[in-house]
Amino acid sequence: MSLPFSLTNQLAIVTGGGTGLGLGISKCLIEAGAKVIITGRREEVLNQAAAELGASAIPMVYDVTDTKAAPEFIAKVIAEHGVPDIVVNNAGIHVKKPAIEMTDEDFDSVLRTHLSGAFALTRAVAKPMLERGSGSFVFISSMTGYMGMPLVAGYSTAKTGVIGLVRTLSAEFAPKGVRVNAIAPGWIDTPMLRKAISADAERERKIRGRIQIEGFGAPEDVGWAAVYLCSPAAKYLTGVILPVDGGGHASF
Ligand code: NAD
Repeated sequence: MSLPFSLTNQLAIVTGGGTGLGLGISKCLIEAGAKVIITGRREEVLNQAAAELGASAIPMVYDVTDTKAAPEFIAKVIAEHGVPDIVVNNAGIHVKKPAIEMTDEDFDSVLRTHLSGAFALTRAVAKPMLERGSGSFVFISSMTGYMGMPLVAGYSTAKTGVIGLVRTLSAEFAPKGVRVNAIAPGWIDTPMLRKAISADAERERKIRGRIQIEGFGAPEDVGWAAVYLCSPAAKYLTGVILPVDGGGHASF
Protein backbone atom coordinates (compact mmCIF):
# COMPACT_ATOMS: atom_id res chain seq x y z
CA MET A 1 0.00 0.00 0.00
CA SER A 2 1.40 3.44 -0.83
CA LEU A 3 1.15 5.75 2.16
CA PRO A 4 -0.69 9.04 1.47
CA PHE A 5 1.90 11.09 3.37
CA SER A 6 4.92 9.47 1.74
CA LEU A 7 7.33 11.51 -0.41
CA THR A 8 9.34 8.51 -1.59
CA ASN A 9 11.07 9.11 -4.96
CA GLN A 10 10.31 12.85 -4.79
CA LEU A 11 13.00 15.46 -5.46
CA ALA A 12 12.64 18.71 -3.50
CA ILE A 13 14.41 22.06 -3.45
CA VAL A 14 14.35 24.02 -0.19
CA THR A 15 15.75 27.54 -0.45
CA GLY A 16 17.52 28.77 2.67
CA GLY A 17 17.69 25.10 3.65
CA GLY A 18 20.83 25.41 5.76
CA THR A 19 19.32 26.98 8.90
CA GLY A 20 16.17 27.50 10.95
CA LEU A 21 12.88 26.66 9.27
CA GLY A 22 14.53 25.57 6.03
CA LEU A 23 16.64 23.02 7.89
CA GLY A 24 13.58 21.77 9.82
CA ILE A 25 11.53 21.52 6.62
CA SER A 26 14.36 19.63 4.89
CA LYS A 27 14.60 17.18 7.82
CA CYS A 28 10.89 16.39 7.63
CA LEU A 29 10.83 16.05 3.82
CA ILE A 30 13.75 13.63 4.05
CA GLU A 31 12.07 11.65 6.84
CA ALA A 32 9.01 11.36 4.58
CA GLY A 33 11.21 9.86 1.85
CA ALA A 34 12.28 12.77 -0.36
CA LYS A 35 15.71 13.68 -1.66
CA VAL A 36 16.28 17.37 -0.86
CA ILE A 37 18.48 19.96 -2.55
CA ILE A 38 19.23 22.53 0.12
CA THR A 39 20.22 25.92 -1.27
CA GLY A 40 21.64 29.06 0.25
CA ARG A 41 24.43 31.59 -0.15
CA ARG A 42 27.01 30.14 2.25
CA GLU A 43 28.69 26.91 1.17
CA GLU A 44 30.01 26.04 4.64
CA VAL A 45 26.57 26.42 6.25
CA LEU A 46 25.04 24.19 3.57
CA ASN A 47 27.77 21.55 3.93
CA GLN A 48 27.31 21.47 7.69
CA ALA A 49 23.52 21.13 7.28
CA ALA A 50 23.95 18.37 4.68
CA ALA A 51 26.25 16.47 7.03
CA GLU A 52 23.53 16.69 9.69
CA LEU A 53 20.73 15.68 7.28
CA GLY A 54 22.54 12.67 5.78
CA ALA A 55 22.84 11.18 2.31
CA SER A 56 19.43 12.39 1.06
CA ALA A 57 20.52 16.05 1.32
CA ILE A 58 22.33 17.72 -1.58
CA PRO A 59 23.90 21.13 -0.88
CA MET A 60 23.91 23.60 -3.81
CA VAL A 61 24.91 27.26 -3.54
CA TYR A 62 22.25 29.55 -5.02
CA ASP A 63 21.40 33.13 -4.07
CA VAL A 64 17.67 33.69 -4.67
CA THR A 65 18.22 37.42 -5.28
CA ASP A 66 20.28 36.54 -8.35
CA THR A 67 17.08 36.22 -10.36
CA LYS A 68 18.82 36.15 -13.75
CA ALA A 69 20.67 33.00 -12.67
CA ALA A 70 17.48 31.03 -11.89
CA PRO A 71 17.13 29.32 -15.32
CA GLU A 72 20.80 28.27 -15.28
CA PHE A 73 20.49 26.95 -11.73
CA ILE A 74 17.39 24.92 -12.59
CA ALA A 75 19.05 23.59 -15.76
CA LYS A 76 21.94 22.35 -13.59
CA VAL A 77 19.52 20.74 -11.11
CA ILE A 78 17.69 18.98 -13.95
CA ALA A 79 20.92 17.81 -15.60
CA GLU A 80 22.25 16.38 -12.33
CA HIS A 81 19.10 15.16 -10.57
CA GLY A 82 16.03 15.45 -12.83
CA VAL A 83 12.98 17.75 -12.73
CA PRO A 84 12.08 18.61 -9.12
CA ASP A 85 8.71 17.54 -7.73
CA ILE A 86 8.66 19.99 -4.82
CA VAL A 87 9.96 23.53 -4.29
CA VAL A 88 9.81 25.21 -0.89
CA ASN A 89 10.41 28.95 -1.24
CA ASN A 90 11.68 29.54 2.29
CA ALA A 91 14.76 31.83 2.03
CA GLY A 92 14.20 35.10 3.82
CA ILE A 93 15.68 38.13 5.50
CA HIS A 94 14.31 40.52 8.07
CA VAL A 95 14.81 44.28 8.47
CA LYS A 96 13.32 45.74 11.64
CA LYS A 97 13.20 49.54 11.72
CA PRO A 98 10.61 52.31 12.06
CA ALA A 99 9.06 52.89 8.62
CA ILE A 100 10.33 56.47 8.49
CA GLU A 101 13.91 55.25 8.91
CA MET A 102 13.66 52.36 6.45
CA THR A 103 15.75 53.13 3.37
CA ASP A 104 14.88 52.18 -0.21
CA GLU A 105 17.68 49.61 0.02
CA ASP A 106 16.23 48.06 3.20
CA PHE A 107 12.75 47.85 1.69
CA ASP A 108 13.90 46.59 -1.72
CA SER A 109 16.26 43.98 -0.28
CA VAL A 110 13.42 42.35 1.64
CA LEU A 111 11.06 42.34 -1.36
CA ARG A 112 13.80 41.07 -3.62
CA THR A 113 14.53 38.07 -1.40
CA HIS A 114 11.00 37.02 -0.44
CA LEU A 115 9.09 37.98 -3.59
CA SER A 116 11.20 38.59 -6.73
CA GLY A 117 13.65 35.82 -5.81
CA ALA A 118 10.96 33.27 -5.02
CA PHE A 119 9.07 34.23 -8.19
CA ALA A 120 12.11 33.89 -10.47
CA LEU A 121 12.95 30.43 -9.12
CA THR A 122 9.31 29.35 -9.34
CA ARG A 123 9.03 30.58 -12.95
CA ALA A 124 12.17 28.67 -13.93
CA VAL A 125 11.12 25.37 -12.38
CA ALA A 126 7.40 25.64 -13.18
CA LYS A 127 7.99 25.30 -16.91
CA PRO A 128 9.31 21.71 -16.83
CA MET A 129 6.86 20.80 -14.03
CA LEU A 130 3.89 22.03 -16.09
CA GLU A 131 5.17 20.15 -19.15
CA ARG A 132 5.38 16.99 -17.04
CA GLY A 133 1.96 17.69 -15.45
CA SER A 134 2.87 17.36 -11.77
CA GLY A 135 4.57 19.28 -8.98
CA SER A 136 4.00 21.14 -5.76
CA PHE A 137 5.17 24.55 -4.52
CA VAL A 138 5.12 25.71 -0.91
CA PHE A 139 5.81 29.36 -0.15
CA ILE A 140 6.59 30.55 3.35
CA SER A 141 4.42 33.55 4.24
CA SER A 142 3.99 34.78 7.83
CA MET A 143 1.56 36.09 10.42
CA THR A 144 2.71 39.51 9.26
CA GLY A 145 0.79 38.75 6.06
CA TYR A 146 -2.36 38.87 8.18
CA MET A 147 -1.83 41.33 11.01
CA GLY A 148 -0.36 44.78 11.52
CA MET A 149 2.95 44.57 13.34
CA PRO A 150 5.09 47.68 13.73
CA LEU A 151 8.68 48.05 12.45
CA VAL A 152 8.53 45.52 9.59
CA ALA A 153 7.08 47.49 6.66
CA GLY A 154 9.14 45.72 3.98
CA TYR A 155 8.73 42.27 5.52
CA SER A 156 4.96 42.51 5.95
CA THR A 157 4.58 43.86 2.41
CA ALA A 158 6.58 40.91 1.09
CA LYS A 159 4.70 38.32 3.14
CA THR A 160 1.31 39.72 2.09
CA GLY A 161 2.59 39.72 -1.50
CA VAL A 162 3.43 36.03 -1.15
CA ILE A 163 -0.25 35.33 -0.39
CA GLY A 164 -1.35 37.12 -3.60
CA LEU A 165 1.31 35.33 -5.64
CA VAL A 166 0.27 31.92 -4.30
CA ARG A 167 -3.39 32.51 -5.16
CA THR A 168 -2.58 33.64 -8.72
CA LEU A 169 -0.11 30.83 -9.40
CA SER A 170 -2.46 28.20 -7.99
CA ALA A 171 -5.17 29.35 -10.41
CA GLU A 172 -2.74 29.31 -13.34
CA PHE A 173 -1.06 25.99 -12.59
CA ALA A 174 -3.91 23.83 -11.24
CA PRO A 175 -5.29 22.85 -14.66
CA LYS A 176 -1.86 21.42 -15.49
CA GLY A 177 -1.46 19.34 -12.33
CA VAL A 178 0.82 21.67 -10.32
CA ARG A 179 -0.32 22.76 -6.86
CA VAL A 180 0.75 25.99 -5.10
CA ASN A 181 0.22 26.53 -1.38
CA ALA A 182 1.73 28.54 1.46
CA ILE A 183 2.40 28.13 5.13
CA ALA A 184 2.03 31.17 7.36
CA PRO A 185 4.23 30.37 10.37
CA GLY A 186 3.61 32.12 13.63
CA TRP A 187 6.56 32.49 15.95
CA ILE A 188 9.02 29.69 15.38
CA ASP A 189 12.24 29.40 17.37
CA THR A 190 14.93 30.19 14.77
CA PRO A 191 17.83 32.65 14.49
CA MET A 192 15.51 35.09 12.66
CA LEU A 193 12.96 35.11 15.51
CA ARG A 194 15.68 35.52 18.14
CA LYS A 195 17.04 38.53 16.21
CA ALA A 196 13.56 40.05 15.90
CA ILE A 197 12.80 39.86 19.64
CA SER A 198 16.27 40.37 21.10
CA ALA A 199 16.36 43.57 23.15
CA ASP A 200 12.62 44.02 22.61
CA ALA A 201 10.98 42.53 25.70
CA GLU A 202 7.70 44.30 24.99
CA ARG A 203 7.41 42.65 21.55
CA GLU A 204 8.23 39.24 23.03
CA ARG A 205 5.61 39.72 25.77
CA LYS A 206 2.99 40.68 23.17
CA ILE A 207 3.81 37.69 20.97
CA ARG A 208 3.75 35.21 23.83
CA GLY A 209 0.46 36.72 25.01
CA ARG A 210 -1.40 35.89 21.82
CA ILE A 211 -0.20 32.31 21.25
CA GLN A 212 -2.91 29.84 22.35
CA ILE A 213 -0.63 26.78 22.51
CA GLU A 214 2.07 27.90 24.94
CA GLY A 215 5.56 28.73 23.66
CA PHE A 216 7.26 29.24 20.32
CA GLY A 217 6.91 26.65 17.57
CA ALA A 218 9.71 24.33 16.41
CA PRO A 219 10.97 24.31 12.79
CA GLU A 220 9.61 20.75 12.46
CA ASP A 221 6.07 22.01 13.20
CA VAL A 222 6.33 23.87 9.89
CA GLY A 223 8.23 20.97 8.31
CA TRP A 224 5.43 18.45 8.89
CA ALA A 225 2.90 20.89 7.46
CA ALA A 226 5.10 21.15 4.34
CA VAL A 227 5.22 17.34 4.10
CA TYR A 228 1.44 17.22 4.19
CA LEU A 229 1.00 19.98 1.57
CA CYS A 230 3.43 18.25 -0.82
CA SER A 231 2.13 14.72 -0.28
CA PRO A 232 -0.56 12.79 -2.16
CA ALA A 233 -2.76 13.28 0.95
CA ALA A 234 -3.15 16.94 -0.12
CA LYS A 235 -3.86 16.25 -3.80
CA TYR A 236 -7.10 18.27 -3.64
CA LEU A 237 -5.48 21.31 -1.95
CA THR A 238 -4.20 24.32 -3.81
CA GLY A 239 -4.21 28.08 -3.16
CA VAL A 240 -4.27 27.44 0.59
CA ILE A 241 -2.45 29.60 3.16
CA LEU A 242 -2.04 27.32 6.18
CA PRO A 243 -1.26 29.02 9.49
CA VAL A 244 1.11 27.07 11.75
CA ASP A 245 1.08 29.43 14.67
CA GLY A 246 -0.16 27.83 17.89
CA GLY A 247 -3.47 29.59 17.30
CA GLY A 248 -1.81 33.02 17.19
CA HIS A 249 -3.80 34.55 14.35
CA ALA A 250 -7.09 33.32 15.79
CA SER A 251 -6.44 34.89 19.20
CA PHE A 252 -8.27 37.63 21.02
P1 NAD B 1 16.79 32.05 9.20
O1 NAD B 1 17.48 33.38 9.18
O2 NAD B 1 17.32 30.99 10.09
O3 NAD B 1 16.71 31.44 7.75
C1 NAD B 1 16.66 32.17 6.59
C2 NAD B 1 17.50 31.43 5.58
O4 NAD B 1 17.40 32.07 4.31
C3 NAD B 1 18.98 31.42 5.97
O5 NAD B 1 19.51 30.14 5.78
C4 NAD B 1 19.58 32.41 5.01
O6 NAD B 1 20.93 32.16 4.73
C5 NAD B 1 18.69 32.19 3.80
N1 NAD B 1 18.76 33.29 2.85
C6 NAD B 1 18.61 34.61 3.10
N2 NAD B 1 18.79 35.32 1.98
C7 NAD B 1 19.05 34.42 0.99
C8 NAD B 1 19.33 34.53 -0.38
N3 NAD B 1 19.41 35.73 -0.98
N4 NAD B 1 19.54 33.40 -1.11
C9 NAD B 1 19.49 32.19 -0.50
N5 NAD B 1 19.25 32.03 0.81
C10 NAD B 1 19.04 33.13 1.54
O7 NAD B 1 15.28 32.39 9.54
P2 NAD B 1 13.98 31.47 9.58
O8 NAD B 1 13.19 31.95 10.73
O9 NAD B 1 14.33 30.05 9.46
O10 NAD B 1 13.23 31.97 8.25
C11 NAD B 1 12.88 31.11 7.19
C12 NAD B 1 11.63 31.63 6.51
O11 NAD B 1 10.54 31.57 7.43
C13 NAD B 1 11.73 33.09 6.07
O12 NAD B 1 11.05 33.26 4.84
C14 NAD B 1 10.99 33.81 7.18
O13 NAD B 1 10.49 35.04 6.74
C15 NAD B 1 9.89 32.82 7.48
N6 NAD B 1 9.23 32.99 8.77
C16 NAD B 1 9.89 32.75 9.94
C17 NAD B 1 9.19 32.88 11.14
C18 NAD B 1 9.84 32.62 12.48
O14 NAD B 1 9.19 32.81 13.51
N7 NAD B 1 11.06 32.18 12.53
C19 NAD B 1 7.85 33.26 11.14
C20 NAD B 1 7.22 33.48 9.93
C21 NAD B 1 7.92 33.33 8.75
